[in-house]
Amino acid sequence: MDLKQYVSEVEDWPKKGVSFKDITTIMDNGPAYKYATDQIVSYAERKDVDIVVGPEARGFIIGCPVAYSMGIGFAPVRKKGKLPREVLEYEYELEYGTNTLTMHKDAIKPGQRVLITDDLLATGGTILATIKLVEALGGIVVGIAFLIELEYLNGKELLEGYDSISLISYE
Ligand code: IMP
Repeated sequence: MDLKQYVSEVEDWPKKGVSFKDITTIMDNGPAYKYATDQIVSYAERKDVDIVVGPEARGFIIGCPVAYSMGIGFAPVRKKGKLPREVLEYEYELEYGTNTLTMHKDAIKPGQRVLITDDLLATGGTILATIKLVEALGGIVVGIAFLIELEYLNGKELLEGYDSISLISYE
């Protein structure tokens, strides 16, 4: 299946010059959403994954059906102030300012093999922060799966040394 045809490209959103990749038109199409999920599940099955981790909000949309399908758990990465129990925080730079992501301290057990998921790899900052949190909790990042990769932003360079797949690429 050619998944790219189900992505909606929205020009000049959320600001001028950006071509936003809207994945809601994959999600609302049953066969396309299932195909994308199944592709990531086959990748994860080769890696003996114990738990899936994804950043809010679109990392949940990709990661939760994968975890459900594999019969394993999902641990959320959320912005500061959203998780109710004791958290570990990681602050990282954005184009303007900083962002802080958090995970519950007991979300991952040391030595667990983790698959990280997100909808889209742009500069890689979000996923690098997610990796740092997982590793600080003792998890081993065995794979990273994206629906979409914007190759021209070179996010893969930040993820050097980690195995990853993207189902759709824009050059
Ligand atoms: P990065 O941290 O620069 O790699 O940005 C990736 C994050 O920004 C992901 O969590 C995406 O959900 C979001 N993002 C950036 N650009 C887009 C887009 O065009 N479509 C959907 N999400 C995007």
